[in-house]
Amino acid sequence: MCGVDGFFTQTPDGGDYRTCGVCGSGCGLDYHYGILYDMKLSRKEFYEQVCDTSDNNYDLDYCQHCRILTFLGCTHEVGGCTDNRYNTHFISEWINKKTGEKFIGMPLFDDNQDWIDHVNDVQILKYYCPNKNSVCTKAPYPITKYPKYYDECDLSNTI
Ligand SMILES: [Zn+2]
Ligand SMILES: [Zn+2]
Ligand SMILES: [Zn+2]
Repeated sequence: MCGVDGFFTQTPDGGDYRTCGVCGSGCGLDYHYGILYDMKLSRKEFYEQVCDTSDNNYDLDYCQHCRILTFLGCTHEVGGCTDNRYNTHFISEWINKKTGEKFIGMPLFDDNQDWIDHVNDVQILKYYCPNKNSVCTKAPYPITKYPKYYDECDLSNTI
């Protein structure tokens, strides 16, 4: 932890789950930490019963507390054993496929059911990276020694 402020998505416990870039709670589809835990569904059951996988929106991290979707993002800190910290990527532009309405910013769901019912209406047009180019000065695998572990972010840092 270098103490730099920003929005980070972590992959703790060897990448067992992901955290929300805003509130830090465990999110995504992980059975032990994410929405599937509350729904009492395995990942396989979820895909078979609930989800239309024609879009990849379910791969994004849906946070039950913030009710938003975030994306893993570019690398901030490589910790080894896939215990990493990423600069969270946020949606900056999307279209509601049902209504054709275009929005600036990110979709906000009413609750888990709203996410399940409507996540596939969301077509994402653009992401942005508020922490763009934030690289950890205290990483166990620092960029100075392991540059190939770190990726360049090609997003804008503002909406
Ligand atoms: Zn959250
Ligand atoms: Zn980025
Ligand atoms: Zn750091």
